[in-house]
Amino acid sequence: MSEIEILAFAKINLYLEVLKKRDDGYHEVETIFQSINLSDTLHFVSIRERKKIVVFCNHPDLPLGRKNLVYQAAQLVFEKFNLPGGVKIEIKKKIPVGGGLGGGSTDAAATLIGLTSLYELDLSEIELWSLAQKLGCDVPFFLKGGTALGKGRGDKIASLAPLPETIFLLVLPGFSVSTTWAYQQLNAVRNRNLSTAEQPISNGVKNYLTKKTKSVKIIQESIERRDCKNLGHHLYNRLEKSVFKKYPELQTIKEDLLKAGASGALMSGSGSTIFGIFPEEKLARGAAFQMKRKGYKVLVTQNCQRGWELKNSNIKNQNHL
Ligand code: ATP
Repeated sequence: MSEIEILAFAKINLYLEVLKKRDDGYHEVETIFQSINLSDTLHFVSIRERKKIVVFCNHPDLPLGRKNLVYQAAQLVFEKFNLPGGVKIEIKKKIPVGGGLGGGSTDAAATLIGLTSLYELDLSEIELWSLAQKLGCDVPFFLKGGTALGKGRGDKIASLAPLPETIFLLVLPGFSVSTTWAYQQLNAVRNRNLSTAEQPISNGVKNYLTKKTKSVKIIQESIERRDCKNLGHHLYNRLEKSVFKKYPELQTIKEDLLKAGASGALMSGSGSTIFGIFPEEKLARGAAFQMKRKGYKVLVTQNCQRGWELKNSNIKNQNHL
């Protein structure tokens, strides 16, 4: 029996601009992903039963069958390689579900990596990327993790200079925000603001969203110069405005973090997590204490430079990864 355990790290978005809606229904984005030291643990055991993928999870709300991204990732690998037998996968969730921290996507990427290792598969980087892309727009980022620029649907990834060690306070408000709903709000804004005749169409792509800022460059430069203060000032998320409108509590959390000494604070992805960047751990701990007293779950953590980490394995040759 072969088995393997892998950590799947969460992400935050330091920058998220939505550029336009594409004809395929997806949004064209420009985003800076950053892996953080918060992870789910996935344990894989190969079993004899043919083509049987069995998923267990400690989170009561997650689907265990075909709707689970881990199940879908395993199915893709089994089909592509026509693997014998099946696999039992146990997910220990620590990443909040629907928190904008990419929990499902990182689990899916870790499943691709875990099974590649468990079955010692010969899978090129491009093949891995193509499987990841089928599973979701954010999944390719997690194959590598670290600090990266995402373009297209968020799936065209270019690694950036690593962010120096930075202290983040994550505030988890205890409810989730639907990613689909958050993006739909941008379309609603377009429909309110532009008459049909005014909607510019270029190359079959609807180009409706507001002016493009240059902050992505400033953020990249701040990372390169290791200037966390400037980075904090230029954090940006296009989805904040409409999400804050429905959930004003999130804006209050952001303001509280800034008042407590954060050099910047932002909603991650489509929410609901709000994170603050703190110049020192003591300040972050103080802010965490205040937010906890208000009834929120909090986590003081740092960035990390990887999307996954193999923990235990009885597989000898892991050179192929
Ligand atoms: P993103 O930031 O990528 O938009 P998120 O962090 O807000 O995502 P997730 O935690 O990935 O949200 O969960 C989003 C949805 O994915 C949930 O409805 C959940 O049921 C589904 N899902 C499927 N598989 C998983 C998984 N392994 N872990 C978490 N969610 C999963």
